[in-house]
Amino acid sequence: MGTEMKQFIDLHLHSNCSDGVFSPAELVEMAHRVGLVAIAIADHDSVAGVTEAITTGITAGIEVIPAIELSVQFASWNDVHLLGYGIDHTDCNFLERLVAFRERREKRNVEILDLVNKRLNAEKKEAIQLKDVLASARDSIGRPHIARVLQAKGYVNSTEEAFRRYLSPCNIPKFYWPIDSAINEIRQLGGVAVLAHPVTITDDRRELHGVIAQMQNMGLDGIEVFNNISQPDEMEYLRRFAEERNLLITGGSDFHCSEDSLEMGKGRGGVRFENNLLPPLKKLITERQENARVALL
Ligand code: AMP
Ligand code: ZN
Ligand code: FE
Ligand code: FE
Repeated sequence: MGTEMKQFIDLHLHSNCSDGVFSPAELVEMAHRVGLVAIAIADHDSVAGVTEAITTGITAGIEVIPAIELSVQFASWNDVHLLGYGIDHTDCNFLERLVAFRERREKRNVEILDLVNKRLNAEKKEAIQLKDVLASARDSIGRPHIARVLQAKGYVNSTEEAFRRYLSPCNIPKFYWPIDSAINEIRQLGGVAVLAHPVTITDDRRELHGVIAQMQNMGLDGIEVFNNISQPDEMEYLRRFAEERNLLITGGSDFHCSEDSLEMGKGRGGVRFENNLLPPLKKLITERQENARVALL
């Protein structure tokens, strides 16, 4: 098949239901403009944007896969990101469980703001206000909301600088789902569990190899081979590793907003995510949904 025939997707976007800037409907429209055929909005601890995205997607002719990004704990790593694809985003028990994670985020947001304001005070800068941080929040609050206020105040020039100078040193833990129970939860919801941007765990290949193998034993289905963090040679390594271990391969940009260096539909080095990643993912989702349905009978 020639390059001109290829179609592209993006399975890792953030909307303003978590720490992205654009609404789910705006993301679908942007995906349409850049020529993508399918997307997944994988908000942190929230599925509030899924229905809006699916509805807009029907009109725009974009396929929308229900998704979420959970922060999970594995061994000594406590902020590992796990993507859940094809989950039942209307399941009441799941929605209730997510509320606790978001409530923790709300409390944590106030605590982080306190620490950031102490720092600003020491630098003789005016404090930032909770109401300004909350002004752009719709469901799940994250540090990028604070980063944007720091930037709007002129205290930093980028999100990266906000993290380096304020948000990394002033971090407060969230709630982290133990990885085995997060994987089980995703599977019981008829979904497929995929490790996001794997090299954020470690860039030591031998160590990452061991970590992913252990996760696969717990039921992990796939890894985000094409992402915005890995260098091209690492993506190639991850692709081969996934093939050897019979893990699903996914790809996504982790796009949050236009100001960052990220672009919708593109990973590091401009890599694009081919539509041929979608059929195996959808096949597994269909199997899981069938299993979840049978389990209810
Ligand atoms: P939180 O969930 O509140 O801890 O915020 C974490 C989110 O902030 C991540 O999902 C990224 O989107 C973003 N983030 C984390 N570290 C950085 C960084 N160094 N520069 C820019 N964005 C970051
Ligand atoms: Zn984020
Ligand atoms: Fe992530
Ligand atoms: Fe993400």
